[in-house]
Amino acid sequence: MADWKNPPRLFIPGPIKVDDDVLQQMARPTLGHRGKEYSQLHGETVDLLKKALFTDQHVFLSTSSASGIWEAAIRNCVAPDETVLSTCCGAFSDKWADVVEDCGRKVDRLKVEWGQAVTPAMIDEKLASGTYAAITLVYNETSTGLANPVYEISQMMKQKYPDVLVFVDSVSAMVGLPLHFDDLGWDITFASLQKAFGIPPGFAVAVVSNRALEKSKSVPARGYYFNFELWAKNAEKNQTLVTPSVQHIYALNYQCHKVVNEGMENVWKRHKAMAQYVREWALSRFDVFCEKPYASDTLTTIRNTRNIDVAKTIAALQEKHNTVFGNGYGKLKQETFRIAHMGDITLDDVKEVTGWIDEETS
Ligand SMILES: *Cc1c(COP(=O)(O)O)cnc(C)c1O
Repeated sequence: MADWKNPPRLFIPGPIKVDDDVLQQMARPTLGHRGKEYSQLHGETVDLLKKALFTDQHVFLSTSSASGIWEAAIRNCVAPDETVLSTCCGAFSDKWADVVEDCGRKVDRLKVEWGQAVTPAMIDEKLASGTYAAITLVYNETSTGLANPVYEISQMMKQKYPDVLVFVDSVSAMVGLPLHFDDLGWDITFASLQKAFGIPPGFAVAVVSNRALEKSKSVPARGYYFNFELWAKNAEKNQTLVTPSVQHIYALNYQCHKVVNEGMENVWKRHKAMAQYVREWALSRFDVFCEKPYASDTLTTIRNTRNIDVAKTIAALQEKHNTVFGNGYGKLKQETFRIAHMGDITLDDVKEVTGWIDEETS
């Protein structure tokens, strides 16, 4: 029986299950956010994130979900008369393009079918045909379970369009998939904590390049809450602009220590091993939804080729094992379903969940 007092273990692609040791971090006494202890916590956490994301540029802690940074990227770093090229390959990348428009900026959409990747050649062709201030990319499209070839795209951008800013939604990729921010030459990337960080929702990490921060200073009407220039001024003191969710930062600090100590290569390998298991399972019983070479290592979207009743199967797992996985996103509901394999989810966990799905559907 569904009951909020007995929450199920979550294998939906966000929020994902959070381990007790991480929850314990959030139960620590809070800190005044202008005090020395807070600055220590903040500074140490930012330093760890810089290591995890391979950057020496600006790392900001935002008490918001990542969608706030969709908006912040545009309002801070795109002037009102400039145009953005938004690549669209699923629900989240589509939504970001809408947000560009909601912010009053002009947007051109480069659309591919859901399940297909955006390639460097497609972007090159579009950028060659007009004047764009920035492009938006989604690293890992959480609706279709697809990881775009962002390393190849970034290489092309550096060679051919060094002046176009590169904004990347890494919400379900950060600390699950390789991300060398400075080498990639990105200008903004960000993630919520309820995905591969394995922390409860309500908080985001943003990385901003020096040149993006500089550019923001010339953009009018950037607002207050998500103002990068004000964020940077406070970050110099290892503080945030407004009162942050200190409890999230405790958990973030803890999780960053864990991944940095493990070594990022090992963290990515761990995700790949889980993904390979789930993909093989999916291919032998159903199919993988997206173009196979681009299947994500942090979640799998499975094409429901046997037309199982997805909602009923999820309900059965909840009833028997107090565990849920994800239905398809939006228009992909029932046609697909999704299993998260990121953060503190383990190979044993995904073996258990897929085994239970087998029991219900064989
Ligand atoms: C979950 C998700 C978002 C939205 O994150 P919120 O924390 O709900 O704002 C955006 N983009 C992608 C790719 C996601 O997976």
